[in-house]
Amino acid sequence: MIFDVLTIFPGIFTSPLAESLLKRALDKGLIQIRVKNLRDFTQDKHRMTDDYPYGGGAGMVMKPEPIIRAVQEIKTKEPEAQSVLLTPQGERLDQKLAREMSGHKHWILICGRYEGLDERVRMTAVDREFSIGDYILTGGEIPALVVIDVVSRHIPGFLGCEQSVEEDSFSHGLLEYPQYTRPQVYRGMAVPEVLISGHHAQIELWRRRESLRRTFRRRPDLLELASLSEEDQAFLRELKTQEGMVDG
Ligand code: SAM
Repeated sequence: MIFDVLTIFPGIFTSPLAESLLKRALDKGLIQIRVKNLRDFTQDKHRMTDDYPYGGGAGMVMKPEPIIRAVQEIKTKEPEAQSVLLTPQGERLDQKLAREMSGHKHWILICGRYEGLDERVRMTAVDREFSIGDYILTGGEIPALVVIDVVSRHIPGFLGCEQSVEEDSFSHGLLEYPQYTRPQVYRGMAVPEVLISGHHAQIELWRRRESLRRTFRRRPDLLELASLSEEDQAFLRELKTQEGMVDG
């Protein structure tokens, strides 16, 4: 999996890629991240990557030429690369989109700054547009790191424990069940008995139900799209009754 990152602040990527699982994946060659400074794609003396907006208004706008040049240079050598503009106006990134992205082997991530990019970049050099949420960051670098992180988790061998990504929140449309580790009793709070019973079927059932309970209480919107068994639905009806929310 290759990520080409186009940015005017390449230094932002140094530390996040030098620690933990992303570093290990880079060392193992599972992912390759090529951070490219957009200033290297300018052709003027001052290496300008932004300019004033036509029509006036606050802030600066990123110039089209360096970005389009950078994308075209990559695509000429590696035509399979898909270019992504990180923008609050894009398709919202979620676990499903991250999984879909992990099926494609080469992404170009374009990081905006200031008031955004000249519209002609979007018109000529952008295949997809992704947002990491309904809020405005100062630049596309953190969103690009978010994309790299969430997509890499789906690459076989990245996590070391292949099951984890399947059990994470959102993977089955539900939030994950509560987790516990040692000590067994902490400040009078004991780990639920079932988790130390060694009874796998009961542990599975407890986890499923806690997952449903948590999703019901925190993110009921997710339940509408989750795939639920008869047993899940019966449990949810029971929960609604307990919490005084019986339909009809
Ligand atoms: N004026 C722009 C608008 O309203 O759409 C926002 C510009 S923002 C200050 C600068 C850059 O940060 C954007 O070009 C984009 O690359 C990035 N950015 C900000 N928020 C983002 C988000 N929620 N998701 C993805 N990228 C974001």
